[in-house]
Amino acid sequence: MSCLHYRETELYIENSRLKQVAEKFGTPCYVYSSSALASNWQAFDEALKSIPHRICYAVKANSNLAILHQLAKLNSGFDIVSLGELERVIAAGGDPKKVIFSGIGKSEIEIEQAIKKKIHCFNVESEAELEKLHQIASRLNTTVNVALRVNPNIDPHTHNYISTGLKENKFGIEINKIIPLGRQLASASHLRLIGIASHIGSQIVKLNPFLSAANRLLDIYLELRKSGINVQHINVGGGLGITYHDEHPPAIAEYVKALQQKFLKHPVEIIIEPGRSIVGNAGALLTRIEYLKHTSQKNFVIVDTGMNDLLRPALYNAWQAILPVELRNSEKRTYDIAGPVCESADFLGKNRTLAVQPGDYLAIDSAGAYGFSMSSNYNSRCRPAEVLIENDKMRLIRRRETIEDLFALEKI
Ligand SMILES: *Cc1c(COP(=O)(O)O)cnc(C)c1O
Repeated sequence: MSCLHYRETELYIENSRLKQVAEKFGTPCYVYSSSALASNWQAFDEALKSIPHRICYAVKANSNLAILHQLAKLNSGFDIVSLGELERVIAAGGDPKKVIFSGIGKSEIEIEQAIKKKIHCFNVESEAELEKLHQIASRLNTTVNVALRVNPNIDPHTHNYISTGLKENKFGIEINKIIPLGRQLASASHLRLIGIASHIGSQIVKLNPFLSAANRLLDIYLELRKSGINVQHINVGGGLGITYHDEHPPAIAEYVKALQQKFLKHPVEIIIEPGRSIVGNAGALLTRIEYLKHTSQKNFVIVDTGMNDLLRPALYNAWQAILPVELRNSEKRTYDIAGPVCESADFLGKNRTLAVQPGDYLAIDSAGAYGFSMSSNYNSRCRPAEVLIENDKMRLIRRRETIEDLFALEKI
């Protein structure tokens, strides 16, 4: 559910008018709803309350410190993929003991720092990584918790670029290697196998792929037990989709209950790593119309945001709703909404019917996840401001970048 709603002719998040946000903080500007964020996180927690569980928010979806801080206050754990993300979690007041480190390319420095910060667990994705982890742990004379990330070879029926659990993907350890590795780990001096994990992709809108992956994890769990290896947790990853357009993903509670059923009879903790389903619908990107341009082929709305601020349409051909911040009564036309970046891939939406004028503000909906976190300075554009709404309060949680910021690190 989007956090945007109209009152009369004006668009709101919570009790804040988006026109006022745009006027106060300028555009382009990311805006997030504090209550949407909290209620999504709590929906996971509530649905899991009858069994031991840990919700580790996937930081890469939106890593703003204020967002992380709010989740830390709810007692969230975090799933990270880099040292930078670990440092963000700590700076935001998150507890490193609730951090899980995922990713196929952890560097030596990242591993060492994460061990020193005493994170909860490394999700290991290859035998080579396991060896490196063991070397570093023995050098530091400590024992490190690991979970094996399985590649369950399941098609999540999502965009190719965000499928991660097929055997041709770079992620996870092949399923037939897990049991021998588990046995090997039992005798490793500086590693402790505490879990098994999988993450099959993102923006998954059907239950079935999740349930198939859960079945594979359960099979592995039981087989390990037969070998006398009892892992403490099963990590089902993230990936629950949201509604951008006409998708009908399972509700958070429905998804969690279905997963929970699989593991109920076993003495394991369930770890879940949602990203998009917590922040995706909790944010929007505000932009201002610079020009209308009419050609013999098309009408264009040219806005002050582009693929450097919001990459999803260009990268995945993703559809996000585009709503006028103030409704007009004038005639509607069909437009492509394009940004100023010098690429034909630089569009925010195509064939949208809108009644608009230059100077109007638009809101690009459901931009809370993989929006700002994937932004860049391409075309030497300053990245947008970010604002967190709490009821009728608007708080700047990242100032707009300035021209000085753009080349502050450079030398002639
Ligand atoms: C990206 C990622 C997630 C979060 O995925 P969402 O689709 O945002 O829920 C969780 N776990 C891992 C390992 C990831 O790489």
